[in-house]
Amino acid sequence: MTDLARLRTRALAAIDERQDALVALSLAIHATPEVAYQEREAALRLTEFLEGDGFRVSRAYGGLETAYRGDTAGRATGPRVAILAEYDALADLGHGCGHNLIAMIGTATAVAVREVMDELPGSIAAIGTPAEEGGGGKVALLRAGGFDDVDAAMMIHPTTGRSLAGRHSLASNRVTVEYAGKAAHAASQPDQGINALDAMIQLFNGVNAMRQQLRPDARVHGYIANGGSAANVIPAYTQGRFSVRALDRRYQQEVLQRFIACAQGAAHATGAQVRVTVDPNAGYENMVFSSPMAEHWAAHMRELGQVVGDTNDDERVGSTDMGNVMQVMPAIHPYVAISDDAIPGHSIAFRDQAATPEAHARALAAAKALALTAIDVLADRTVLESARREFAERRAAGVVKGRTSD
Ligand SMILES: [Zn+2]
Ligand SMILES: [Zn+2]
Repeated sequence: MTDLARLRTRALAAIDERQDALVALSLAIHATPEVAYQEREAALRLTEFLEGDGFRVSRAYGGLETAYRGDTAGRATGPRVAILAEYDALADLGHGCGHNLIAMIGTATAVAVREVMDELPGSIAAIGTPAEEGGGGKVALLRAGGFDDVDAAMMIHPTTGRSLAGRHSLASNRVTVEYAGKAAHAASQPDQGINALDAMIQLFNGVNAMRQQLRPDARVHGYIANGGSAANVIPAYTQGRFSVRALDRRYQQEVLQRFIACAQGAAHATGAQVRVTVDPNAGYENMVFSSPMAEHWAAHMRELGQVVGDTNDDERVGSTDMGNVMQVMPAIHPYVAISDDAIPGHSIAFRDQAATPEAHARALAAAKALALTAIDVLADRTVLESARREFAERRAAGVVKGRTSD
């Protein structure tokens, strides 16, 4: 047996040996859903697991209460690989995105690689990133310098139907639009009022008119959070919340400017005052995954008897703060199918599937493939070199941003 084959066997055995504890960890998180930045129990469970396996753990990493980082170093300096976990739930829906499985996969991968770090150069960091569903934990951690000493990052997200080594995601912004008008009796003095609800409705109509001239990947959607308070009063204040997305940041920003023009146009048309606020913590960048690392993961999945599909150009996708990580370093975010049947994300059916033995068996297989991928990055310098070369080419082409210090 070669050295690398022996390391791989040891790493995979580490996951098998802990299988019951890992599944229990995932089910406990699933049973106690905590939304963005409230993931206190999950963070505690995950950090205790890592500590129990010999990681040096920092809690409240980057100044975020529910973020954490567990470190372990190899026998010499080398690539610094981050293995990420998400563990936030959705309001009213629990783990309808299956982040309990992401947490288990990240932890399983980290402990498997740690098992063989005594024979590898480099280091791994198991980083717990809160609030993916809203709040952008990775955005905050990046801003706090939490990824400054990381060369490559990886995590896995559950999906259904077919596993994929990578997929795009949409660059996005969350935008709040407020209109201030003037209240007046809606029957006796309507001419004395300024109708803030008319302005809001005009904005929706403007966006709907704009839609036909947008690229097919653009998404603009929202709801009225405050539409007035009485039928007999001309609404003096309204508030709408929107998401503006597209496949690349450049075009997304263009759509955002056109959206803001719609908001201003509606103000002009109605005489209301407008205020547009772009949330600085919910600007998710688009994912551009590292092909060399993704290919290693897919190859290991197939060695383990798992099926990995091909990514189509027209995948239906959302947005994730992993995009922000991918804009500054080579990273992967493969998808593991937790059922063969397609189940919509963010649904009760997905939540229920994310607690099944089938989902856990598939998730642990994906974790094994991720551990083998991390071992490849640590053991074979050419993997990170080719990932860096691809990243540099993309940066030169304006496809990724790179670090501000680069
Ligand atoms: Zn989600
Ligand atoms: Zn998710």
